[in-house]
Amino acid sequence: MKRLKLNNVEIGRIVEYNGPFMSIYDFFPDATEELLAPHRNWLEPNALEVGTDMMLMPIQSYVVHTPTAKILVDSCVGNHKSVKWFPPWDQKEDSNFLTGLMQEGTHPDEIDYVFCTHLHVDHSGWNTQLSNGRWVPTFKNAKYIFSKTECDHAEKLYNKYGDPTFIENVLPIIEAGQALLVKDDFELDKFVRLEPTPGHTPGHCAVRLFDGNKSGVISGDLIHSPVQCQFPHWNFKFDFDKELAAETRLNFLQQHYESGTRILTAHFPLPSTGTLKAKGDAFRFIYDKE
Ligand SMILES: [Zn+2]
Repeated sequence: MKRLKLNNVEIGRIVEYNGPFMSIYDFFPDATEELLAPHRNWLEPNALEVGTDMMLMPIQSYVVHTPTAKILVDSCVGNHKSVKWFPPWDQKEDSNFLTGLMQEGTHPDEIDYVFCTHLHVDHSGWNTQLSNGRWVPTFKNAKYIFSKTECDHAEKLYNKYGDPTFIENVLPIIEAGQALLVKDDFELDKFVRLEPTPGHTPGHCAVRLFDGNKSGVISGDLIHSPVQCQFPHWNFKFDFDKELAAETRLNFLQQHYESGTRILTAHFPLPSTGTLKAKGDAFRFIYDKE
């Protein structure tokens, strides 16, 4: 991908995986054949696989280059992670992310900040890597900005269910002294600040980008698929607080449609970036041309 430009802020992309993920009926319990039928013409073949109704989605990170800092937003699945609920990610090993970062033009040591929109495994994996049997920070010169709310939630999931994400992707960063625990409206500088967007997880934050007369937002998992522009109340089956997730999503769509704000999604089909417009009593995502 060519870097996307606002004015002086540029954003590059790293794709770790792109392809079928899960049946849309499994992903969105509210989805039915009847509701989908009138929308297949714009969902297929890029967002919805023809014939299988599998959702096609990338796992990706963005690198935000401001005049003063390089910020990695989300860090994909990572290698050697324990993901028992999804075998393709469990103990996986590939070089897609680190190669992709270099192709994007950035060396891991150049990253100044890492921020995860939330601490699920596909957004926090490359926070760490395995070195001589120990988890160490992948970005040795970076400060990792963690929402305190999200961090506490990840720790709770570990204590309650043994979810290893906190132990593998978060705790090693805290122990290395590289974590900044922040409030959900943390402002890094005039270019980058967080915006609380709870629901998918309690401390989920979008990343707002401001650059003169242009602005952008990295939306993480507050919205997973362009089909939710038509059906904002459709929740992903693993959204933590479904009512709040739907409210956050609708607010987000209403806030940004027809505004020209560049939307950088996590899992919409590539190129995953674009703008929002109104369509009847719903919304449509207009993809950037790459
Ligand atoms: Zn995700």
